[in-house]
Amino acid sequence: MRGWEKGERKRAVGRRRIAALAVAIFLVAFISGLFLREPSWKICPKEALEEAEVSQENQNVSGESPIFQQERADNSSGEIAESGSGANSGGSGTGGESTGSNANAVYTGYIICLDPGHADTPYQIDAETGLNTQDWANQPEMSIVFDIALRAKGILESRGVRVVMTKSSVSAQVNLKQRAITANQCGAYLVVHIHTDPGISSPTTFFPGPAPNNWKANSQTGRKAYVDAGVQARSQKLAGLFHSAMSTTLQRLTGSPKGGVAMENRGATGTGNYGPVLTYDIWSKVPTFTLENNQSFANSHRQEIAQSIADGVIACLGK
Ligand SMILES: [Zn+2]
Repeated sequence: MRGWEKGERKRAVGRRRIAALAVAIFLVAFISGLFLREPSWKICPKEALEEAEVSQENQNVSGESPIFQQERADNSSGEIAESGSGANSGGSGTGGESTGSNANAVYTGYIICLDPGHADTPYQIDAETGLNTQDWANQPEMSIVFDIALRAKGILESRGVRVVMTKSSVSAQVNLKQRAITANQCGAYLVVHIHTDPGISSPTTFFPGPAPNNWKANSQTGRKAYVDAGVQARSQKLAGLFHSAMSTTLQRLTGSPKGGVAMENRGATGTGNYGPVLTYDIWSKVPTFTLENNQSFANSHRQEIAQSIADGVIACLGK
């Protein structure tokens, strides 16, 4: 009888342990579910977030090399069966300076963010910075740059790069802060903000400047907000690499002049924000820069600009 009691007691302890373990597993799953829940406007795919957790350990603003895999194209892989750049993909030139633009190379382990400019969003003061997060619908620029971003996304994805867009459609209402947050939350290696301007003559890449040109303020609050110093330095470096490869490709494909890299120097924006840097840079935790092309040129050379953006991004990977 004693033996039977002992056995029964053991089984009871075992059951309690199993029950405790089940409760613990449930709690862990529930709590992590709470923290992993994504805001409704965020477009970052879940797989990209998981990948970001791994790659973020290797992608930081101190300049350390990230995981960088450059594999030779393999006919059996099927991963890059089509180059995705349409009529322009068969170009004979290699782009010269754009060292990373080997047309047969596949780049994995990277997430980059493309931010097609402009949206119709309401006036909203950000409590964190005092800045107005409002963007505005600027047509035809808004439609042109969205199309270019989609094309660039296709080319980059055909090369193995993961691409997150800040907007899911031309009319998606995404404000200036949300653009930065999307790139941050995805752990993007960099974010390219894509714009056009009727008044600009050649492609220009703008980066946030170092102090004393690293701020933005709002005329109503008077509060100044600053770009993160590490983000500023990385942005400046990568903007140079991006521009060199991007403008080389664009010149090869269209004969356009190469333009240049310029420090951001904005005045008032019309939303009450003023100061040198572009507003979205203030919230950026990842390298950030802005490409401007002449608007009518951009409208008639969408695929070429998309290809140049892809080559520019690839030239930054692993740098
Ligand atoms: Zn614009």
